[in-house]
Amino acid sequence: MIGDMYPAGAGGWIEVVCGVMFSGKSEELIRRVRRALIAKKRVQVFKSHLDERYAGLYHVSSHDGRTVEAVPVDSPEQISRELLPATQVVAIDEAQFLPIGIVALATDLAASGRRVILAGTDTDFRGEPFGPMPQLLAVAEQVDKLHAICVLCGNPASRNQRLIGGKPARYDSPTIMVGGDESYEARCRSCHSVPRRDEDQVRLL
Ligand code: ADP
Ligand code: ZN
Repeated sequence: MIGDMYPAGAGGWIEVVCGVMFSGKSEELIRRVRRALIAKKRVQVFKSHLDERYAGLYHVSSHDGRTVEAVPVDSPEQISRELLPATQVVAIDEAQFLPIGIVALATDLAASGRRVILAGTDTDFRGEPFGPMPQLLAVAEQVDKLHAICVLCGNPASRNQRLIGGKPARYDSPTIMVGGDESYEARCRSCHSVPRRDEDQVRLL
């Protein structure tokens, strides 16, 4: 089973759970949080305020409906302000939406002896590195990359397919769309489609 690698007394460390949407990152974060609570650790859970799916802002929610209370934040400073001195485990979901300062915060929290668990989508809809995720992966002691199932072919999915009006979103659409009519599918590399303007031109030639 993934996770739970570090023994008690090992000092602080950073774990990252990454992968596409629907790959089970929130489920895995919640599983680790639940097990930390069973171990009687003091846990605080945060998530980017940009993710509002299912149970609402104040819960880490997984697609199977299980929830753990989480505080919505939009900056590392806010996490610092909310942090209680006695907290031993800090879990942060949707880390890809947070500013790059999350890397320094995670590092400081680990240096102070805390276990830091971050979950986030490591690539954007284009299949390119998303926000602070590359740096978080680099500084973490433990990285788990999860996969969903490609909705078109059934192979492991490693890409977030953005659809706008049912059609693949173009490469130049914004990385973060708020309140748009877009939807997402998990897809494998070969079923993933991100039309570029220059591809249209190639087709015209
Ligand atoms: P994430 O946080 O990575 O977006 P969640 O933990 O919220 O993922 O949800 C994972 C759950 O989503 C799976 O257990 C499964 O029930 C469901 N699911 C829906 N679509 C897919 C898919 N294409 N591939 C895998 N799981 C999917
Ligand atoms: Zn596929």
